[in-house]
Amino acid sequence: MHFVTRFAPSPTGQLHLGHAYSALLAHDMAKAADGRFLLRIEDTDTARCTPEFETQIYDDLAWLGLTWETPVLRQSDNTPAYDVAIAQLGDMGLLYPCSCTRGDIRRAASAPQEGAPLLGPDGLIYPGTCRHRAWEDRTDTDAMRLHMERAVDHLPDLPYYTETGVHPALSLTRDHLVHEVGDVVLARRDTGAAAYHLSVVVDDAAQGITHVIRGEDLAPATPIHVLLQALLGLPTPIYHHHRLIRDDAGKRLAKRDDARAIALYRAEGATPQDIRDMVGLPAA
Ligand code: GLU
Repeated sequence: MHFVTRFAPSPTGQLHLGHAYSALLAHDMAKAADGRFLLRIEDTDTARCTPEFETQIYDDLAWLGLTWETPVLRQSDNTPAYDVAIAQLGDMGLLYPCSCTRGDIRRAASAPQEGAPLLGPDGLIYPGTCRHRAWEDRTDTDAMRLHMERAVDHLPDLPYYTETGVHPALSLTRDHLVHEVGDVVLARRDTGAAAYHLSVVVDDAAQGITHVIRGEDLAPATPIHVLLQALLGLPTPIYHHHRLIRDDAGKRLAKRDDARAIALYRAEGATPQDIRDMVGLPAA
């Protein structure tokens, strides 16, 4: 079977045990399927990404015994492709500019007449303050949001997708997308940089990814990705969302959990096999 997967870290901190698990699992699955393993550096958030963290990623992954194809796709080198996708969705009438700050959204979402604020995959569901604005009236400092209701209604049928281990295939639903996901941001305020949901979809297609292997924390974002693929005429890969590596208290690891950083285990003399044992993966 044709099998192409990827590991797509953001260089905003040290890789920890959770990243090691994700990268090793994707690499092992590609090897077992006689497939390809690619690396992608997700560095569109220029305020938080650093070249030092990027170098550390290559270093840690090589130490773990991983090999990947070069050149590596760095999202900061690929911005024209995101601009094309944004223009395409804008011309389809599915985007609108938004000038709301996080504070504006918090206030509007918790206004008394709105009831309890609802959380979606990106935090508070957008209350729609700027939804009346036309795409043509956008300025350089606006975010670009997907008009979810229009996006859903644009498609004759909502797409299905395959999640490994889940049968039958999962279908997107209008109610879920409109009411529990809402108008997600596809290009950020101020910088205009592509937001994660857009860049991930454009790049998975550009890299010919057939299997997306990533943590189950990203499972709630998958319907957004599948919807964008359908709108942009891109193929939908098979999704595999794996368990998360948790700390001793059962909390999932975050970038700030430097105690679990691969670099620290390395400095303390651990071997790559020790890391595999710690995350519950068999020897390579
Ligand atoms: N860049 C994302 C992260 O570091 C992963 C994106 C993905 O695998 O789809 O969490």
